[in-house]
Amino acid sequence: MVHTPAHSGIGGALTYESDAVHVPGTLVRVPLGKRELLGIVWDATDAGQVAPPENTPPDEQATLQLRPISSVLEGIAPLNAHWRQLVQFAASYYQRSAGEVALAALPSQLRDLTPEQWDRRLKRKPKATSPYESTAPHIPTATDEQAQALADIAANTGPFLLYGNTGSGKTEVYLRAAQSVLEQDATAQILVMVPEINLTPQLEERFRARFCPQWGTDCLVAMHSSLTPAQRLKNWLAAHSGEARIVLGTRMAVFASMPHLQLIVVDEEHDPSYKQQEGARYSARDLAVYRGQLEGAKVILGSATPSLESWHHSRPATDTQSAGRYKRLAMPSRVGQGALPLVRRVDMNRQPYKTVFSNHLLDAMRERVTRGEQILVLLNRRGYAPVLSCHDCGWKSECPHCSAYRVFHKLDRTLRCHHCGFTQPVPRACPSCGNLDISPLGRGTEQLEEHLAELLADVRRPDGEPIRIARIDADSTRLKGELERQLAEVHAGAVDVLVGTQMIAKGHDFRRVTLVAALNPDGALFSSDFRAPERLFSLLMQAAGRAGRDASMQTTSPCEMWVQSFHPLHPLFEALKQHDYPAFAEQQLKEREQATLPPFSFQALVRAEARSQEAAQGFLNAARDVGAALADELLVDLYPAVPMTIQRVANIERAQMLIECTSRKALQHFLAHWQGDLHGLRSAHKQVIRWAVDVDPLAI
Ligand code: ADP
Ligand code: ZN
Ligand code: ZN
Repeated sequence: MVHTPAHSGIGGALTYESDAVHVPGTLVRVPLGKRELLGIVWDATDAGQVAPPENTPPDEQATLQLRPISSVLEGIAPLNAHWRQLVQFAASYYQRSAGEVALAALPSQLRDLTPEQWDRRLKRKPKATSPYESTAPHIPTATDEQAQALADIAANTGPFLLYGNTGSGKTEVYLRAAQSVLEQDATAQILVMVPEINLTPQLEERFRARFCPQWGTDCLVAMHSSLTPAQRLKNWLAAHSGEARIVLGTRMAVFASMPHLQLIVVDEEHDPSYKQQEGARYSARDLAVYRGQLEGAKVILGSATPSLESWHHSRPATDTQSAGRYKRLAMPSRVGQGALPLVRRVDMNRQPYKTVFSNHLLDAMRERVTRGEQILVLLNRRGYAPVLSCHDCGWKSECPHCSAYRVFHKLDRTLRCHHCGFTQPVPRACPSCGNLDISPLGRGTEQLEEHLAELLADVRRPDGEPIRIARIDADSTRLKGELERQLAEVHAGAVDVLVGTQMIAKGHDFRRVTLVAALNPDGALFSSDFRAPERLFSLLMQAAGRAGRDASMQTTSPCEMWVQSFHPLHPLFEALKQHDYPAFAEQQLKEREQATLPPFSFQALVRAEARSQEAAQGFLNAARDVGAALADELLVDLYPAVPMTIQRVANIERAQMLIECTSRKALQHFLAHWQGDLHGLRSAHKQVIRWAVDVDPLAI
């Protein structure tokens, strides 16, 4: 049968002819131009439409000759209707094409293997995996709070917001909820999402230890970006075939094909890394909630510091407002009576100029290390110093390609741009005036590590050995496996003081940490990004949560969190002192409501990049003019184009435009109609290199 080609809109499906009828969801190879690409039979029409590979430009789609499907990928069951609907929804919500979303969600080897390689792959016998070597798992008795949360999960449909303090045993709740799903249904599958798998390698081990003895080594597969293409294909197939009962993965796992999905867990649901920052800029957390509803799977979002969106969605009913759509489950207590740390604030205004560690803090650190306790020092700035400068002429280590300074890295004596990567050796003398005396301004983790080594040089561990200081940040963990190795050292107790960026604050269960110090957290208090305080508060709460996880470590003195700030009385630190997330959330939500910011409104950003700021803004402002009438009608606000905070990266000028509306539906309606205009405008704005829409952006 021959059909006329579908003159599809942007990113619509393409039509191919085929002798046989293919079930929707079938994976096929199709010709496009001179290439042969992976496609998915999308529609139930008799010809079968194929979601176009990548972001096929509209002109290429329109001139397409109707050609036959080259071949079908044998041996793979079609992707089911739920999966296709999830993709379709994500594509339309985030303003991308279904083909792009679908194909990005599939393992690259499905695309890259030739038909011959694929045949060989199929014939390969699965290696017999060795049985999981472990005795029956030790399952602790649930605490009352855990039992209550589990009973609520069993009795309701959700979605659930598990608001559990750090160390309250949220993971144990996930494990038990998973257990009961696995036991009730011999085919049921579970998706567990975590922000960054490398940061919490123990979590995978905890799941394995719990489930592999009973359900076998292959019952759990991982899905994240550090797998090899072959591993990713293998794990994807295991989930798709239903053989893997549990998928543990990062945001990309939300698109895992799981035909019997019954439970989705999103751990640390507030974490910004659930938002994809390129291509389709989806929120895996939000898609998880959608997917749960679509497939009738229960969804548990867990956090000690939920996103304000989820907090608001889980509000209980009051006299004046209705209850949110999520069910909030609270676990306020720590397991085993480990107390939350005492928060101590140091007023840096009263410290001598250029103080790094106040004397009080230093004394406390010495005392604890001497007793064999561990310390975390948090500074959210890597490198040695953020700027190198000349005192004579005022030269600073600006990046020639970006509107940012290059960071001084002392270890390899380089100036490195953290935005474009441009790296040069540190100059011997000031490039501008020749002065030999150029010096670092400000402080990063590298310098802090060096400085601490001097300050604590005379301190000994209980065994008389000198103390060990280690640093974990993006620089120290660049090599594969390095992060895991360093974390293992901290766990093993080989490290006494750990210096690091936010990487050290995430879900680690370090047992001997009794003091956490946050240096210089003030930047976020006065940021132009309205989410900065939320992020800072959650970072500090998470960091505090690393202390005192083992009650037996607190016999001598209670564990502590120290905050050195020039604004110690700021309400954010007051709330931190009380460990009072609800108070902080309430105050922030009040401010957001007054300013009609999310979750009381909905936002999207259009970003454009060009050689000049003028060209980037010109495109955005033209887009604004085209959309003005419809925006007016729908009560959508279109703001003028502005340069991005970091305006120039790698010699590309960047601008953005904010779109805001109190109705999600109206905003979606507007974006859907406007999308075509934006594509149309592009040809009149040839200088624009790239543009993209970000729906529900996390950073403004
Ligand atoms: P969270 O994820 O909320 O920070 P975890 O699940 O990591 O907390 O639990 C903190 C610690 O308490 C872990 O070491 C865990 O093994 C232990 N734990 C959790 N639940 C129980 C329980 N019911 N009985 C004893 N120990 C528990
Ligand atoms: Zn100079
Ligand atoms: Zn740069």
